[in-house]
Amino acid sequence: MTTLLESYAAVAGEGVVNHLCRLSAPLKGMQVVHVNSTRIGGGVAEILTKLVPLKRELGIDARWEVITGEADFYRCTKSFHNALQGSPVNVSNALFRVFEETNARNAERLRPILEEADVVFIHDPQPVPLLKLCPNRKGKWVWRCHIDISHPYRPVWKRLRNFVSAYDASVFSLAAFSQSLPHPQYLIAPSIDPLSEKNIELPAAEIKAVCDRFGLDTDRPIMLQVSRFDRFKDPLGVIQSYRLAKTFVPTLQLVLAGGGATDDPEGETVLEEVRAARADDPDIHILALPADAHRTINALQRAADIVLQKSIKEGFGLTVTEGMWKGKPVIGGDTGGIRLQVINHHTGFLVNTPEGAALRTRYLLQHRDKLQEMGQKAREFVRENFLVTRQLRENLALMLVLDRQNEDRIQLSVG
Ligand code: UDP
Repeated sequence: MTTLLESYAAVAGEGVVNHLCRLSAPLKGMQVVHVNSTRIGGGVAEILTKLVPLKRELGIDARWEVITGEADFYRCTKSFHNALQGSPVNVSNALFRVFEETNARNAERLRPILEEADVVFIHDPQPVPLLKLCPNRKGKWVWRCHIDISHPYRPVWKRLRNFVSAYDASVFSLAAFSQSLPHPQYLIAPSIDPLSEKNIELPAAEIKAVCDRFGLDTDRPIMLQVSRFDRFKDPLGVIQSYRLAKTFVPTLQLVLAGGGATDDPEGETVLEEVRAARADDPDIHILALPADAHRTINALQRAADIVLQKSIKEGFGLTVTEGMWKGKPVIGGDTGGIRLQVINHHTGFLVNTPEGAALRTRYLLQHRDKLQEMGQKAREFVRENFLVTRQLRENLALMLVLDRQNEDRIQLSVG
């Protein structure tokens, strides 16, 4: 029987998988816990779905825990998210209390596991108070920040920083996101899983069937953005870009596909704004998809001629990686993690305005050979840099460093 890891050798190379086995040998049996605030929807859930089983297969005792809360908790953490990405939103003391109380309740349930663990990865701000709520922790705790925190709204960051400072290390996706913190900071870019339903090859008939289901004409060009309905993803800017591009390419169709994440309460409002902006254009398709529509998204990304990710802030942008892996040059907002992936004029185009996105769309649709060539470069760039095997390797290396610090501490106290 082929193991999960062996199946990656075919995509990423034998050497990559051997390397993972060697790197993880000293970590066998180690207890590692990842904590975030949703099991489905959004990039973090997407990554943990594969990273945790792979660690287990390498003999590491890895688990994934999810904290839960009521509506006010998610309202509060969504405000944190917006504030950390630079929006000047204030969080009332009452809401902040809900944040701390919700974490305290979750700590009651999780404390035995967390205090025993050798390494704990806390993802994003939602569960960040857990460290202070586990006074008898044994292992190292890492804050894994996935969002663009390059210019946080200071009053909110100041409060959250109090929690983050107590961690042993932080991990960011980009150097530009690092902050002044009293502990080592590491850089690990996110990744996609090439063998997941979201990214595996699909039969042409299935792609066609998905297009038919949503009334898309496969003989006409399709422009696509897959995203949660979130203002940082600029869905209204996408509609503007489409309208401008359509003046040159009248047959153009636009698909805005996205569902919500269970920890994102603003999705409905933004979706309404997007529906209003659509007006009665029959060539704009707004698809509110269920959270498990991975194969559908895969098919749409493969069917698209143009993949857009016009974000104005973006921690990394897995949708960019996904589009590139499908051989599409991505037209992406010139921001955050998109800059790491879209090498301007090579793997896609970086844009700052709807006009810019429209111009690049028109160029690619009128130069199909260039579209193909850049798409191939994009796929190889992802193979080299953004597959889950690379992220796992860097994660293991970080665990080795943290483990060594643990040993040094033990030796010092024995000596
Ligand atoms: N996604 C999804 N369904 C949706 C919208 C997004 O499965 O309706 C997936 C998308 O394919 C990607 C992830 O959620 O894998 C979003 O990650 P990204 O880093 O692009 O953005 P985030 O939502 O984390 O800000």
